[in-house]
Amino acid sequence: MMQPYAKGFGGLARLDETLDAFWMGMRRYNVTYHNDMHCLDVAQMTFIVLCSEDLDAIGIRLKLRPLEYLSVLIAALCHDYAHDGFNNGYHVKTESSRFHLHGADAVQEKYHFAEAFKIIERTKLLCGLVPEDQATFRRLMLGCILSTDMSKHNDVLKNVQEMMLQIRSDQHELVTDDMSADEVQERKEQLLHLVVHSSDISFLTRPMHVQQEWAYLLFEEFFHQGDIEREKGLPVSFLCDRETVNVAKSQKPFLDFAVMPLFKVVSELSPSKDYLY
Ligand code: 5GP
Ligand code: MN
Repeated sequence: MMQPYAKGFGGLARLDETLDAFWMGMRRYNVTYHNDMHCLDVAQMTFIVLCSEDLDAIGIRLKLRPLEYLSVLIAALCHDYAHDGFNNGYHVKTESSRFHLHGADAVQEKYHFAEAFKIIERTKLLCGLVPEDQATFRRLMLGCILSTDMSKHNDVLKNVQEMMLQIRSDQHELVTDDMSADEVQERKEQLLHLVVHSSDISFLTRPMHVQQEWAYLLFEEFFHQGDIEREKGLPVSFLCDRETVNVAKSQKPFLDFAVMPLFKVVSELSPSKDYLY
C-alpha cells in the first residue's frame, strides 16, 4: 500500500529494507496487543480513510503530496514501535530508562518515534529528498505519532472541530485557493493527526465479534501491567486490575467519549463511507 507514494525517495528497494527492519522492532516484546498486528491494523485503517480511490477520501480532498501520504502511513505503522506493554504512567512512576530518555510528557510516543526514525536514517529512506522535504516528512511523522497519546485526545479533536465549523461555511473544501501556504499546511497536519489518532482506536468501530477480540487482547496487556505493579508494591493503574475491572462495562465510556466523537468528524470528512457499525 505504500509503494505508489515512494517515488522520489531512495527507491523501492530502500522502502522494502526499511519495512523489514520495522517488523523486527514491532515484534521485539511479546505483548498481547501493542504488537505488529495492532500496528498493521492502524496503518490499514489510516490507508482506508486517507487513500481510497473515491473522490472524497481525505487525502484526495487535502491534495496531499506522495511524500505526505508516505509519512502518515509510516507514522501509523510505527506509532507503537517497540512498545513494551506498559503505559506512560508506568514509565513515569518507575522512572524507567525510556522516562530518562524522553521525560514525563508522551514518553512512549517519543520513544516510538525516536526508535523508528533511527531505522529510517539507517536504511537511508529519505536520501532522495531535498532537505526541506526531509524536514516535512519528519515533522509530519512526529506529529502523527504524538497525536496517539490519549492525553492529547481533547486537543486533537477540538482543533479539528473548530476547523469543521469553518469548512462547513466553505462549501466543504478542506483546502481552498485563497488560503496561504502556511494555513494549508497547518490545516493538513491537524487533519492528518486526527486520522492517525482515530485509526489508533478504530477497532471499536468494527463488528462486535472483532471488537471483542481486540478488547480482550488490550485488557490482558493492561492486567499484566497491574500484576507487575502489585508485585512491586505500586498502586495498580486505572483499568489494570484484573480482580475488579469489567472489560465490557469499561468500554462504554471509552466508546461514548472518545471513539464516537472522533468518528463523527471522520465520517463528515469523508461522507461516502460508513465507518460506524
Ligand atoms: P495506543 O497505546 O494504542 O497508541 O493508544 C491508544 C490508547 O487508548 C491505549 O493505550 C488505551 O489507553 C486507550 N485505548 C485504546 N483502545 C481502548 C479501548 O478499547 N478501551 C479503553 N478503555 N481504552 C482504549
Ligand atoms: Mn496504538
